[in-house]
Amino acid sequence: MTALPRTKVCSRCEQELPLASFHRRRHYVSTSVRSACKPCTALMVVAARAQQKPSTELERTKERIRRRTERAVARGELAALPCQVCGDQRSEAHHLTYEGDDAHRQVQWLCRDHHMTIHIRRPWGRQLALL
Ligand SMILES: [Zn+2]
Ligand SMILES: [Zn+2]
Ligand SMILES: [Zn+2]
Repeated sequence: MTALPRTKVCSRCEQELPLASFHRRRHYVSTSVRSACKPCTALMVVAARAQQKPSTELERTKERIRRRTERAVARGELAALPCQVCGDQRSEAHHLTYEGDDAHRQVQWLCRDHHMTIHIRRPWGRQLALL
């Protein structure tokens, strides 16, 4: 009696493929992809990278200003306030502008949830246009 070849269904293309077409579990953990076949995993990793690539000039400027805000708070030049919407103490700085010398002080304090809400409603490109 021969053992049946062990197969698995890809979570992305939904094809039933031999186990050799899948990566080991560790690979999925490191790429945060779940049980997709090798070609699908590769596609998903490329797509995820393209989304989070902070390579533009604007992204670098934003990163620099965020760090300036953190330093200003650490030095006591800027007071971190509770979320301006719900009063949650665990707030983070939402920048109203990334232009000008004191851009790092032009912030609203929002908890993670309310911060996310603002960014979902107004992605950065459009926020700049509104200013
Ligand atoms: Zn697949
Ligand atoms: Zn809040
Ligand atoms: Zn923000």
